[in-house]
Amino acid sequence: METKMVTLKINDISVTVPEGTTVLEAARSAGFNIPSLCFLKDINEIGACRICVVEVKGARSLVASCVYPVSEGMEVYTNTEKVQHSRRLTLELILSNHRMDCLTCSRSAHCELLQLAGDLGIDAVRYVPDNLMPRIEDSAPHLVRDNSKCVLCRRCTAVCRKTQEVGVIGPNDRGFATHIGSAFDRDLNEVDCVSCGQCIVACPTGALAEKDDTDKVWAALADPTKHVVVGPAPSIRVTLGECFGMPIGTNVEGKMVTALRRLGFDKVFDVDTAADFTIIEEGTEFLHRLQNGGALPLITSCSPGWIRYLEQHAQDMIPNVSSCKSPQQMFGSLVKTYYAEKMGIDPQDIVVVSIMPCTAKKYEVRREEQRLPNGCMPVDVSLTTRELGRMITKSGFLFDHLPDGEFDEMLGVSTGASVIFGATGGVMEAALRTVVEKITGAGMAPLEYREVRGMSGVKEASYELPGRTVRVCVASGLHNAKLVLDGVRNGSLHYDFIEFMACPGGCINGGGQPIQHADVRNFTDIKTLRAAALYQQDEGMTFRRSHENPVVQEVYQSYLGEAGGHKAHALLHCSYIKQKKYRT
Ligand code: SF4
Ligand code: SF4
Ligand code: SF4
Repeated sequence: METKMVTLKINDISVTVPEGTTVLEAARSAGFNIPSLCFLKDINEIGACRICVVEVKGARSLVASCVYPVSEGMEVYTNTEKVQHSRRLTLELILSNHRMDCLTCSRSAHCELLQLAGDLGIDAVRYVPDNLMPRIEDSAPHLVRDNSKCVLCRRCTAVCRKTQEVGVIGPNDRGFATHIGSAFDRDLNEVDCVSCGQCIVACPTGALAEKDDTDKVWAALADPTKHVVVGPAPSIRVTLGECFGMPIGTNVEGKMVTALRRLGFDKVFDVDTAADFTIIEEGTEFLHRLQNGGALPLITSCSPGWIRYLEQHAQDMIPNVSSCKSPQQMFGSLVKTYYAEKMGIDPQDIVVVSIMPCTAKKYEVRREEQRLPNGCMPVDVSLTTRELGRMITKSGFLFDHLPDGEFDEMLGVSTGASVIFGATGGVMEAALRTVVEKITGAGMAPLEYREVRGMSGVKEASYELPGRTVRVCVASGLHNAKLVLDGVRNGSLHYDFIEFMACPGGCINGGGQPIQHADVRNFTDIKTLRAAALYQQDEGMTFRRSHENPVVQEVYQSYLGEAGGHKAHALLHCSYIKQKKYRT
């Protein structure tokens, strides 16, 4: 159907936009920025904060432009004296209940509230907050909330409820006492939070942050008795640069390696290598279930946010999930067994640090099911991209001036297959590159599976292989995962293999990634830009299938034995189990 167009005037300039466009979007398309605070496109469109008000000729009062649709002949003024006065007053009232400790706030360099105050010309705070004290909730391993910095924009609650369909946080109480929390103000570790951290990246202020574990890493690096090993996840190389003002989608792999080495890590390995092991183990598991019978669809287990959702909200599907540990955990397992033995280092003296896109990894490293037969936990500290960014800044490195470095080879060789793990569909494509070749024979299988690429929330494809059709599905964001699971349960959807990632778009959009302001997120497809950098790296790689990785081949040959065999199972697999379900 043809889209109906609407012509209106914004600041006396004629603008034509599709019917249904909001005034905020129409103004933006005409080159006028309207400041906003609570608005997050497709997630939180409630017109609550009233920072984005504009004057519309004929309207009795100012209107919230983020929810006000355009109409034919409308005349809008985005920056009159009345509008400016209203915005400033609104912001001053918000600041009157905000504990401003910008000098020490974790968000000060990226705070939307601070930027807004500057943009609106707030040069003095007339209504000084009355002795506001921190209101800290830090019960969960991944997140800290400080309601004394909350502006009640509700972006966090919208993402938790709509995007993730978990809904464990919301506004409590009324009027001046309104605050964000879980039902009955229970601690976050006493509700079914999946630790995804999507609320953190949605928050415009320092009210939400990951739990900072950098002190543990500084302590390990300063301890001469410890051998400290680090590994960044596939997506970090295309997001870390944003911490230093580089354009979204810049691949900084070489600089990242140099920065890690200069921080003092004894070995700089690559979690990509472990992602290739994941494909070998998961691919073997899939082929086994396909050929010998077993619970299908097989569902991936790389995303700890998804796993936590499964264990609390979708327990009936546990038999379908791969028993593979995530790449983070496989990485730590190999360091504390294969690497430790080869180097003659007591694994108790090794500290494994992972750099992850995800706050759920902080929860995953504590899981008892992950413990190795030698008694060690595979990973000791899991940092987000943002925490690594802060460590680099604190060290005084000029990140964009750093020369390119290279990973240490023993566990630092990657393939194109492991690089694309960082984007939704990447795990599935990597698995297909290996599994289809195993079924059809070398040289007979395609290398790329573009049907499972892209940022759609749910993608599906089917492949005709000798003897049978293999149907696959990829979903990211837990709302989408739930839709797929509902279809599988009621028999309307039939798949053999499913990839689920808790975060929309996959790890490149994880809850631990650099935070982009809403005025960037609302109008730029950051997920696609970040993913494109991964696919570009994949295209230039010597090895593009996981089973071609020479490190993977060497480790199976000299240490693990058969893929899916006894030793591989003991080190690289675990059990996912029903977790206590809290009421939410
Ligand atoms: S949230 Fe923003 S305005 Fe508030 S203390 Fe932190 S940096 Fe300052
Ligand atoms: S971490 Fe995820 S599940 Fe937990 S409150 Fe935040 S958005 Fe909701
Ligand atoms: S915690 Fe952050 S996102 Fe949530 S309502 Fe407060 S300021 Fe908004």
